[in-house]
Amino acid sequence: MSETYPSETAPTESAHGDAARRVAGARALSHFINGKPVEGTSGRFGDVFNPALGSVSARVPLASVAEVDAAVAAAKAAFPAWSETAPIKRARVLFKFKELLDRHHDELAELITREHGKVFSDAKGEVMRGIEIVEFACGIPNLLKTDFTDQIGGGIDNWNLRQPLGVVAGITPFNFPMMVPCWMFPVALACGNTFVLKPSERDPSASNRLAELLKEAGLPDGVFNVVHGDKVAVDALLVHPEVSALSFVGSTPIAEYIYTEGTKHGKRVQALGGAKNHLVVMPDADLDQAVDALIGAAYGSAGERCMAISVAVAVGHIADELIERLTPRVKSLKILDGMEAAAEMGPLVTGAHRDKVVGYIDAGVAAGAKLVVDGRGHTVAGYEKGFFLGGTLFDDVSPEMKIYREEIFGPVLCVVRVPDFASAVELINANQFANGVSLFTSDGGIARAFSRQIEIGMVGINVPIPVPMAWHSFGGWKKSLFGDHHAYGEEGVRFYTRYKSIMQRWPDSIAKGAEFTMPVAK
Ligand code: NAD
Repeated sequence: MSETYPSETAPTESAHGDAARRVAGARALSHFINGKPVEGTSGRFGDVFNPALGSVSARVPLASVAEVDAAVAAAKAAFPAWSETAPIKRARVLFKFKELLDRHHDELAELITREHGKVFSDAKGEVMRGIEIVEFACGIPNLLKTDFTDQIGGGIDNWNLRQPLGVVAGITPFNFPMMVPCWMFPVALACGNTFVLKPSERDPSASNRLAELLKEAGLPDGVFNVVHGDKVAVDALLVHPEVSALSFVGSTPIAEYIYTEGTKHGKRVQALGGAKNHLVVMPDADLDQAVDALIGAAYGSAGERCMAISVAVAVGHIADELIERLTPRVKSLKILDGMEAAAEMGPLVTGAHRDKVVGYIDAGVAAGAKLVVDGRGHTVAGYEKGFFLGGTLFDDVSPEMKIYREEIFGPVLCVVRVPDFASAVELINANQFANGVSLFTSDGGIARAFSRQIEIGMVGINVPIPVPMAWHSFGGWKKSLFGDHHAYGEEGVRFYTRYKSIMQRWPDSIAKGAEFTMPVAK
């Protein structure tokens, strides 16, 4: 991989094909409404950075209420025809879309690395996880099959329908600019809904490329729209009377706000929030495996994953050896521009986010945690302006410290020492977040007890990042998810459809006279 990005030193139309144009040295992105790129008219723009270079690579339009209205109107107009399209025909569009995603796999991953900073191989993994949801959604004819009961009584049959909701919207975070939108729209579209996506303004380009590929796959105009923006656009979606449902993924305070406001305005809402994921290392764990797991899960994607492990819970005597083995590994992380083949960790998404993470490290030191490896001040030769931070390791972290209580979302691993298994479970169950958790042990009984007792949405046993596959469903508990449905899988089908029960009787079997008692099977 090259050290610089040709399309940034000399941006071209073909780099995205989304009417990207040069404005003061940076590409200007467009919204994507009703099947075509639409220039922003609000006069407000956000900077999109190349985090490795620390320079602005693009300007993203921040939508006005009128622009959101235009996207919702396009989606509304497209709904009647799309929802009447046979599920198998909707699936065929998704099959073609999947082929296009395969063909453009590397291109999408490079777009992600350029704007997010994660390493290219990790970005490829993200694209693959997105593709898998599309593959799941291709099975929609089967997924929409429902129950039928013949002859519930008196010549009556009873069956169920799952019908689409109408216009649905997705609001997504910066850390998975392709995968998280794919948790939502493939299933929503397959179910017959039309969609408005408001992606993160930090790394918006992948969404436009997805919109173009959907169009190329044969998706009718208006069925999938992208509106870029900030709180103005989000608030417009929250109150829009034509938006039936909102899927949100992002930080907990915003998730709670989206859930409260969205439901207040009569919408169905699933809002996935932040996390503080623990990995418990039991004294009988295979320590080589546990250390590998911690290094990958804490520092992969610079810790900017909702399923990143940010707390290692060392049980009993294992703690000293764990710290001893982690320390050289954290110090020797290969931190480079994510497009470098050797890179294990790239920069953070923005300078502001990097500074916020540095603030947490300062707070940890001030609170008395033992700073074993200090990532502050880390620079990468040739990329001095990049938003880099070294891997950081704290020992002797206690539950009242800010670095334990709050989500840091950076390459910082906190080790908490506990005396036994019961204390580990108690510690984790007392945390406000409950997204993912992991246990490393060689004892099946402990593993079983852990999976049953732990109050967390996604559990890994000797698996560091237990992100469910596409045909299962993703979601946390407590402050990590507001709403009743997890994302994608069958939960996604349920979220994006309304349940209707139909009872049918034909005239020759109509009973004589009105019935005033509650009907029961005869
Ligand atoms: P964020 O909450 O800042 O932003 C998410 C989305 O909300 C963006 O589209 C943003 O434009 C919008 N937004 C931001 N502030 C808003 C406001 N005041 N009003 C209305 N909308 C607003 O999150 P982020 O920094 O982009 O992403 C990181 C966070 O997402 C982390 O907390 C991470 O744990 C979480 N996350 C959770 C999951 C999960 O599945 N639970 C998955 C990925 C990321």
